[in-house]
Amino acid sequence: MRPTVLDPLFAAITSLDGVGPKLAGLLQTLLVGHGQTVRVRDLLFHLPSGLIDRRKRSEVLSAGQGAIVTLTLRIDRHQPPGRAQKTSPYRVYAQDETGEIALTYFRAQPRWLEDLLPIGETMLVSGKVEWFNGRAQMVHPDFVAPIAEAEQLSLVEPIYPMTAGLSGKVLRKAISEALSRLPSLDEWIDESVVARQTFPRFADALKRLHDPQDAIDLDPSGASLRRLAYDEFLANQLALALSRRKMRALSGRSLSGDGHLVSALQSALPFSLTHAQESAIAEIHADMKSPERMLRLLQGDVGAGKTVVALMAIARAAEAGVQSALLAPTEILARQHALGLSKLCETVGLHLELLTGRDTGKARARKLERLANGETQIVVGTHALFQEGVDYHDLGLVVVDEQHRFGVHQRLTLTEKGKRADLLVMTATPIPRTLVLAAFGDMDVSRLAGKPAGRKPITTVALPDERLPNIVQRIGSAIEQGDRVYWVCPLVEESEKSDLTAAEERAGVLRQFFGDKVGLVHGRMSGEDKDAAMATFKSGETAIIVATTVIEVGVDVPDASIIVIEHAERFGLSQLHQLRGRVGRGDKPSSCVLLYRPPLGQTAQARLKIMRETEDGFRIAEEDLKLRGEGDLLGTQQSGMPFFRLAKLEHHADLMEIARDDARLMLNQDPDLKSERGEALRTLLYLFGKDEAVRLLRSG
Ligand code: ADP
Ligand code: MG
Repeated sequence: MRPTVLDPLFAAITSLDGVGPKLAGLLQTLLVGHGQTVRVRDLLFHLPSGLIDRRKRSEVLSAGQGAIVTLTLRIDRHQPPGRAQKTSPYRVYAQDETGEIALTYFRAQPRWLEDLLPIGETMLVSGKVEWFNGRAQMVHPDFVAPIAEAEQLSLVEPIYPMTAGLSGKVLRKAISEALSRLPSLDEWIDESVVARQTFPRFADALKRLHDPQDAIDLDPSGASLRRLAYDEFLANQLALALSRRKMRALSGRSLSGDGHLVSALQSALPFSLTHAQESAIAEIHADMKSPERMLRLLQGDVGAGKTVVALMAIARAAEAGVQSALLAPTEILARQHALGLSKLCETVGLHLELLTGRDTGKARARKLERLANGETQIVVGTHALFQEGVDYHDLGLVVVDEQHRFGVHQRLTLTEKGKRADLLVMTATPIPRTLVLAAFGDMDVSRLAGKPAGRKPITTVALPDERLPNIVQRIGSAIEQGDRVYWVCPLVEESEKSDLTAAEERAGVLRQFFGDKVGLVHGRMSGEDKDAAMATFKSGETAIIVATTVIEVGVDVPDASIIVIEHAERFGLSQLHQLRGRVGRGDKPSSCVLLYRPPLGQTAQARLKIMRETEDGFRIAEEDLKLRGEGDLLGTQQSGMPFFRLAKLEHHADLMEIARDDARLMLNQDPDLKSERGEALRTLLYLFGKDEAVRLLRSG
């Protein structure tokens, strides 16, 4: 049960003075999205994006066009609109030593204005100044107050992200109401962390953010925001640690084997394992052997060689006499895996089967039978693997190939069939460590850094597009040496058709130099034509392939050693990284030419710089996160609501690790969260909506 101390924060927003159904509707749109109950807490978690500082006084003459200023003015005269001109504004003329300004009101009550701005009074007036024909005016000043009251005015005003129909004034008032309901809560952060980080108290941090005194108060690196970011991370990490503990406690079976299948497979491979692969395999085997359930993430860039690591886990499971399931995100990938693995498996006498939605009727029934009686040791497929009616003899290992998709909480909670099984999730970068922590928490991580041995580094250069003739010349000599070249065409923003035109034009230009050595592949070709174009490129019949951005995933042309990317400034970092990954697969040194059209914006410049500096997918992913923010990478952008409401991963990544350790330590010391601090942490979990996690505690 949620502690009663939180009741005021979880009350519906309409419980606040001055918040009626209409305003509540707007706030729902703004804060939680359609269909969700908007609570007082949500209003408090809506933090300002900036502030207006009205403390700096200005003078009429020196106030620039559009400047938001605070003026000290003597009110001179009122000029109501004439009877005949109802739509003209009501003007009040006022001045200071430097000049005159008209305070302009549309559809105002004369009586109200006469009271507000009495003639002869000196007033403080704040708002936006506009100049027209040498005259200054201010339309609907943000506030006016007698000079005597200046002391009590709050002259620094937070600005909030808004939604249509909502006024800043109304929002600020509602927030200030909400702040007055803020209960006093016991500290849930370890005191040593509080001291080291110089964190303010939770309530003080919130109050300060909603009533900033200076821009620094709203800075992501400021103490208030860091405090709240930490709270959010701590709730997140504690919840993840609790669910992990639960998942582990559920199973507990030790899978071990004599190694005969593992070593047989290893000798059947056409290559030897890299050091990174070997240590990942060792970690996985150790997990499988332990009586706790394995929850491991295998991270590795595209092409890093994750599949063979999974295979070694599968082999160990088979030695232990249990079945494995390999779950792929799409049917195509499932087929690819099945094709790639079945030959190897056959050589060591393992029976692998593919199961997808395409299997129907008798064939499907027979597959299911072999799965149920244990004849099939390995099954590869899509989520069809866990459908109703699919029964396993004894499923001991589930491998999930996440490939590029992220956004995965639900994949961790497999169905009953997989509940006792060890779990290995494979993900490709870009997933920076902070995001792994955010989404998987304390999941164990094995990383395949780098690429299999023998791959040469790729030299990356960025050049302005006026250098195109030089590139063409260089390519000429490269293809004479037998090199193969990808030429990626400008990503045109408007339509696929223009993408195509650009690619056709470029192919035309290149053909003037290299004749029929130039091929073309684009998204509008039929599958067969695409295959044919790629085949002639692979065989060397064509030496240059001009492609729209969709270079088919999975094309593998080890002889290709040069990639030219036009308008590189229009691509995102991870796209550039993926594209560059098309070369550097063989044993030749490769190069990547990023052509750009100057002038470069700041972000584009940063991206190209990172591309030149590193080939490390992890580093690129981290930088990408900094440039883009977490929404994109976590795939939360479609939902419109950020993964974290208060924290900003790109600024607060350091706190995530501390929160992880803090959560782990706490659960070791106080597994049921019964101590005083434990109770406070329960409150924190509820505060951030982690009710599910609290239920995982043995004594709720
Ligand atoms: P990913 O991590 O993207 O799933 P894959 O497992 O598909 O990568 O491996 C990419 C390619 O590298 C495959 O063709 C695979 O056979 C090859 N490969 C994997 N490990 C090694 C290795 N140790 N040495 C050489 N090639 C390897
Ligand atoms: Mg793979």
